[in-house]
Amino acid sequence: MRYEGSLYRPPSEAYSYILQVTIGCSHNRCTFCNMYLEKQFRVRPLDDVLEDLVMARRAYRRVNRIFLADGDALIVKTSDLRAILGTIKNLFPECERVTSYASARDLLLKTPEELEELHALGLDMIYLGLESGSEKVLRDINKGVTVEETVEGALKAKAAGIKLSVTEITGLAGQDGMEEHALLSAKALSRMNPEYIGLMTLTLRRGTKMTADWEAGRFKRLTPRQYLEEQRILIANLDSEGSVLRSNHISNYVQLRGTMNRDKGRMLATLDTALKDPELDNPYIEYLENL
Ligand code: SF4
Repeated sequence: MRYEGSLYRPPSEAYSYILQVTIGCSHNRCTFCNMYLEKQFRVRPLDDVLEDLVMARRAYRRVNRIFLADGDALIVKTSDLRAILGTIKNLFPECERVTSYASARDLLLKTPEELEELHALGLDMIYLGLESGSEKVLRDINKGVTVEETVEGALKAKAAGIKLSVTEITGLAGQDGMEEHALLSAKALSRMNPEYIGLMTLTLRRGTKMTADWEAGRFKRLTPRQYLEEQRILIANLDSEGSVLRSNHISNYVQLRGTMNRDKGRMLATLDTALKDPELDNPYIEYLENL
């Protein structure tokens, strides 16, 4: 297959065929993210994308899932997405679902009818980064969209029948804003009521502004104990019936999985048990994190 640069996909797309329809992220300015810093954003020519699909059909006997990469594939114009999804339907009749990352801006730029059409053509689910339910935090991290826009975009996708997997990043507000970040994120997630909620833990990446701020003492990252305390506040205040909540990213200290609101008590109990572990205060953990 033809790929350009590093590829990223959600953990749940580990066995999906990854099709690059864009190179990089059209925003590429979030202060914590270095995923696509190496790439100059562009939409790939439609013919190249369709050729990749033909090559993939020759290479793979069975393709159950396809993930459209890179950072925000839904920025591609609807006529091209229609051609891509139509070709997937023709070439991969066994494909059970097509998914992609999407930004709130992508969703707001599409009409309800366009989103409904993309869903009818096989776009089953999108991965949307809320990151935080706090407008201040989104401004601080230069997310480029507001909480209100993110909620509006999410509800628009839902109304079109597209499933939602929404991520929040624990620790994004640092020590000073952790409680507000958790409370407002719980509120925004509850409003969206997505099928899936993913809680990630902030990882300071090389080459990002956030890492530079931390090194200069301008950003106070959470301690391992505070990460769990912040997740506890979020889950305790989350009211999102039916959402499957996962905290199973490699960045997380404690692996959680449950269905809201049914499993809220069990997940809080798991965090409470973890919080009793004195190893959380072992400075070696922080040392390892800073490598
Ligand atoms: S977090 Fe998402 S929107 Fe922000 S720069 Fe990274 S890929 Fe782009």
